[in-house]
Amino acid sequence: MAQYGFLGLGIMGAPMAANLIRAGHEVTVWNRTAVKCDPLVLMGAKQASTPRELVAGADITFAMLSDPAAVEAVILDPEGVLEGIGTGKGYVDMSTVDATTSQWVSEVVTEAGGRFLEAPVSGTKKPAEDGTLIILAAGDEELYGEAAPLLDVMGKKRLFLGEVGNGARMKLIVNMIMGGMMTSFCEGLALVAKGGLDSSDILDVLAAGALANPMFAGKGPLMARDEFTPAFPLKHMQKDLRLAADLGDTLGQFMPSANVANEAFIRAVDAGLADEDFCAVYKIFTD
Ligand code: NAP
Repeated sequence: MAQYGFLGLGIMGAPMAANLIRAGHEVTVWNRTAVKCDPLVLMGAKQASTPRELVAGADITFAMLSDPAAVEAVILDPEGVLEGIGTGKGYVDMSTVDATTSQWVSEVVTEAGGRFLEAPVSGTKKPAEDGTLIILAAGDEELYGEAAPLLDVMGKKRLFLGEVGNGARMKLIVNMIMGGMMTSFCEGLALVAKGGLDSSDILDVLAAGALANPMFAGKGPLMARDEFTPAFPLKHMQKDLRLAADLGDTLGQFMPSANVANEAFIRAVDAGLADEDFCAVYKIFTD
């Protein structure tokens, strides 16, 4: 039976790996903070003590790590991915990183004999739990085909976008739009409060018209109740806006609203909100 590995059991990685186990796959897990492996081991996963050990024992390894620095650390560690990846092994990085990082991972993995697919996801904690993520894959098309049954366990829709870097760019563009929408939404809600209006009324108005969307409908009532438990940590949205702004710079694209949204999220990180949900950016408009 094929063996699969999963590196990184944070808010997203843990439910994604759990879905693979529930679907009957043989999964070995590793996480920097080892205790996060426990619930998955209880479900039937094996636990590796290092990324090297995990990758060496798996036909295909999936990774879901926080940012470019984490992705690089797990690859280059003396007990890391590169030490375990052998000829023909697949490495599927689902973390949100920039195209340059993804291309570097592709190079080092393939130079070591492995095969590489980038597959960042759109969708947050609940879609990760429900197996309804949208997967933006690019890279080795044969590996994409082999991984497809597992991607279909984790997601409801998948796209193959061609060469490595295209998935990363698509993901950053999606989150850049989301960060801009959230910033604008927060300004509107703050203005509603200051103008003596009721937040439930603006949510009603938005939901009834052309601006209706699941993000406003889901986050609006939470924000009104001051609930900011992280589904998508604010620090990761700031990372995505930073990387999207860099992408705009690289391509010479005028992106005023993305840069303004990035400034708002930097201010929120500086205000100590990094580990709250990204909708906590609201607080910089009200505190
Ligand atoms: P998270 O809860 O913060 O988890 C991050 C994971 O990365 C943890 O397993 C963490 O290990 C690991 N990690 C961080 N630095 C590391 C290092 N230097 N070495 C080894 N492992 C390291 O984040 P998440 O929400 O699951 O997000 C994971 C990725 O998916 C991010 O790129 C994020 O932008 C993206 N994403 C998130 C969402 C969302 O809604 N949450 C949606 C789509 C995409 P520890 O447990 O030891 O800290």
